[in-house]
Amino acid sequence: MGFRRDGVGRDPSRRRLTPRLSVHDIAIDLGTANTLVFVGGRGIVVSEPSVVASDSLTGEVHAVGAEAEQMIGRTPATISAVRPLRHGVIADFEVTEEMLRYFIRKVLDRRRGHPRMIVCAPSGVTEVEKRAVEEASLAAGARRVHLIEEPIAAAIGAGVAIGEPIGRMVVNVGGGTSEVAVISLGGMVLSRSIRVGGYEMDEAITQYLRREYQLAIGSQTAEAIKISIGTARPPESETATPVRGRHLITGLPTQVSLRSEEVREALKPPLDEILRTIRDTLEQTPPELAGDIARDGILLAGGGTLLRGFAELVAAETGMPVFSADSPLRCVAFGSGQALDHFDQLGSTTGMPRTLSTRD
Ligand code: ADP
Ligand code: MG
Repeated sequence: MGFRRDGVGRDPSRRRLTPRLSVHDIAIDLGTANTLVFVGGRGIVVSEPSVVASDSLTGEVHAVGAEAEQMIGRTPATISAVRPLRHGVIADFEVTEEMLRYFIRKVLDRRRGHPRMIVCAPSGVTEVEKRAVEEASLAAGARRVHLIEEPIAAAIGAGVAIGEPIGRMVVNVGGGTSEVAVISLGGMVLSRSIRVGGYEMDEAITQYLRREYQLAIGSQTAEAIKISIGTARPPESETATPVRGRHLITGLPTQVSLRSEEVREALKPPLDEILRTIRDTLEQTPPELAGDIARDGILLAGGGTLLRGFAELVAAETGMPVFSADSPLRCVAFGSGQALDHFDQLGSTTGMPRTLSTRD
């Protein structure tokens, strides 16, 4: 396998031998919902929610990851459990840094010295935030850091040969963001990112229950409803689930029965927004690349695309074939991990690598 830095012409790196994946290099998918850590030679070794619980007075961190997630909505007044990347931007840099450090320390083998690191940050982060992620990684023990774009990582992770001069569309629906990108020759030709993802779907369910049943529920209950009976298109048979919450007027714990049709109605606005972004991006895609996408289909990645009927909805609304990554929640981490193999071809440590390209 060789590489091209510039996306055109012959591969200048062919002369060199491919550096073998150093067994302790680390790739991190720093997601708005979940952070995954891939360690060279081992694969994905950490997969935890991107949550930090800290003391709101002293800033002391109490828990990170799964343990912290348990505390959301259940903490005493002085401890707050937050998702520092919730809307795809780094809302709280210090907390993000703490979280990154925690995950890196968890896998870092100090005897082996400082690893090289690839970090996939959410789409839509600013240059300043990218720099901040790099600095946090260096501070946490990395020797060198590269950031990788999420659609590229998702495509690599899904086994798509991204280095070819063929247009590929990737739709990645995460917790706080959705990104639609067209890639060719290992680089992004077009990309659009919106701050609508799985959380906005949960929020839409929460709002529906308030409006229709005067019932207040927590964010984890909303997510559980989405996963258990949420659909993007009418299924063969509709279902229902009991939902417990607090009645807004009486203030008492209350249970209602919620039907899958109602959840689908609630989910329509965020889904429409994602579909609109896909259609807009398709409209802006140059004709040759659009032809490739019409032939090869749209790749779906990210946990949000696991919503039942989502792939069918995208296919119906765009007229394009649609296929899902084998493991939508893991393919970005997996692809970032595979990119470790090409670390030296990724370009400068301070910019986003735009031209990673792999060829046989
Ligand atoms: P990020 O990259 O932003 O961390 P992920 O790709 O990890 O996001 O996806 C997390 C989102 O996927 C969450 O909003 C979660 O509710 C949603 N999700 C996970 N599994 C399912 C499912 N089976 N159906 C619908 N949504 C799901
Ligand atoms: Mg993601």
